[in-house]
Amino acid sequence: MNQKSLYYKPSGSIGPVAIVLSVVFGLIASLILGTLYGYMIYYLPFIYFNFIIVILYGFGVGSATGIGAKFGKARNSTVLGLIALCIGVLSFYFGWVSWMHALTEQNVLKVDLIAVFSKFNPSHVYSMASDIAQTGAWSIFGWTPKGFSLYLVWGVESLMIIFLTVVAAVVIIDEPFCERCNTWIQEDSTISPYPFIEDEENYKASLEKEGVELVLNQAKLETSEAKFSEYQLFVCKMCNSNQMLTVSNVELSLNSEGKEEQAKTEIAKHILLDKAQISTLKSDPNSDVIS
Ligand SMILES: [Zn+2]
Repeated sequence: MNQKSLYYKPSGSIGPVAIVLSVVFGLIASLILGTLYGYMIYYLPFIYFNFIIVILYGFGVGSATGIGAKFGKARNSTVLGLIALCIGVLSFYFGWVSWMHALTEQNVLKVDLIAVFSKFNPSHVYSMASDIAQTGAWSIFGWTPKGFSLYLVWGVESLMIIFLTVVAAVVIIDEPFCERCNTWIQEDSTISPYPFIEDEENYKASLEKEGVELVLNQAKLETSEAKFSEYQLFVCKMCNSNQMLTVSNVELSLNSEGKEEQAKTEIAKHILLDKAQISTLKSDPNSDVIS
């Protein structure tokens, strides 16, 4: 069995609406979050805290870009990734503008955006950054990074923001889509417990060899266990077809407070099924169906 007919594959469509919405959502988020970002970095110059702020900034801007793309029904993660890359670069720049605004003017309530951006244009930001690099901007453990070390810190900061923006955006549209109904396919239900998959690589190889029968012929566990696998079923609610399932391993454990925690690992994603196969799975009397 070849891989194409085994797994769902996005059509790769991305229309002008999706492009415009992802750019607009991304820009609005990076302006708002960028302002917060620059001011928070300025007022809270603690390296560990800044690390978290960088992560939240990239993740926030990327998520907004991805949500715009999802509204616009984008099914092309390469194009969305490139859009997010540009938004990520802009976000890094917006963060700088905001930080320098905090450094020099400190008046976030009366802001004329056009005046701010014409003052802190990229070449001015660059020359201010070069000046700051000579004296250093902050210290950690009595060490004030300057010159190359400070550029390195800024380089890592920019890469983190850009990388997280791209990843967070692309993850949002990583869902199946019904081309016939022009809509996203929601998760229908989850059935479990199936035996835990010990060897992920071996399982995938067998799946590619035997096809979907491997999943369908799997006998369910008689009793619930701390380690098992589960099937998430997806069906288009509009045409009631376009079925698929995702196989995941689940491990239950107790945390330090004695509460049950669940760790889920995706093993095989969006395996295509036909109508008969999905109704057989759903009608299995031994299944715990969680809708
Ligand atoms: Zn449909």
